[in-house]
Amino acid sequence: MSCLVTGAAGFIGSHLCRRLLKEKIPVVGIDSFTDFYPKWIKEKNILPLMKKKDFKFIAKDINELDLKELLKNAEYVLHLAAQAGVRTSWGQDFSAYINNNIEATQKILEASKENQLKKLIYASSSSVYGFCPDLPMSETSPLHPYSPYGVTKLSAEQLCFLYHKNYGVPSLSLRLFTVYGPGQRPDMAFHKFFKAIIENKKITVYGEGKQTRDFTFIDDVIEAHIASLKKGKVGEAYNVGGGVRKKLEDIFPTMEDICQRKIEIKKEERQKGDVPHTYSNIEKARKDLNYSPLTKLEEGLKEEWRWIQKLYS
Ligand code: NAD
Repeated sequence: MSCLVTGAAGFIGSHLCRRLLKEKIPVVGIDSFTDFYPKWIKEKNILPLMKKKDFKFIAKDINELDLKELLKNAEYVLHLAAQAGVRTSWGQDFSAYINNNIEATQKILEASKENQLKKLIYASSSSVYGFCPDLPMSETSPLHPYSPYGVTKLSAEQLCFLYHKNYGVPSLSLRLFTVYGPGQRPDMAFHKFFKAIIENKKITVYGEGKQTRDFTFIDDVIEAHIASLKKGKVGEAYNVGGGVRKKLEDIFPTMEDICQRKIEIKKEERQKGDVPHTYSNIEKARKDLNYSPLTKLEEGLKEEWRWIQKLYS
């Protein structure tokens, strides 16, 4: 088995590469180190992997690579490279979302047409649901993204489906719900909260703190990717969530316990593009992928806190 992982230096991509290498699966990782967050964080993710003999790293933009040539040697593609972030997807920055989310995905799919790929796994997002009338959201729920980011994630997911239907590209999508744990991106809530605690600053909450999220621990997300290599059905999309939802304001007491500090909160206006609730129905992934999220929020938060203290020490 051989895998090509895009977004290899990012939060989820670097965990995935590490896990594949642990299984003795040779990996080619691609990452262009976009400037969405500091390069040193991505380097910390990827540098330990560079020493592994089964790992080859290409520090380039997908849009500039000879993908046909690269795909000749890959049986599986795990496509995680993207411009992430809901709130930054408005205005001028939108072009980065088009280039890195839609165009890069289309180029990978074009290059996959004539290859003998066994599977292409696309890291989609709960943001494809947007304001969803169904809670929990299931794969058959309506898709009405509420942010430009969500629009680009859905476009790329639909491109995967189109190339599957028209050209037989063996693609499937995993719709990830708010992923957290060691390595979490610095623009994401728990990372920002823990960093603020370390710096003795107030935690900024957008809206009233009544929003609910389905949080998914990184190890569970990685297990879903590994399972989908063999068990995932092509042409399908799967929700990959924790399967429970938590109100943001209810998480602060747990964080106070973990950090042994009192948290001070500063409320700001709800941000454009933010949805009030996410909550995944994971029955389809349970059935097809044998997916079963194992990590409880408190345990996962403890791991993220341990990691973040080291990161900023
Ligand atoms: P991340 O920003 O840490 O990782 C993405 C990586 O892709 C970055 O290192 C970036 O440099 C790289 N990249 C972007 N465009 C590229 C290009 N054109 N060529 C090469 N490399 C490029 O983000 P993440 O949180 O690890 O997310 C990984 C994937 O999972 C993304 O597709 C994201 O949309 C999806 N996702 C993440 C979450 C979450 O909660 N983290 C939730 C839903 C979906």
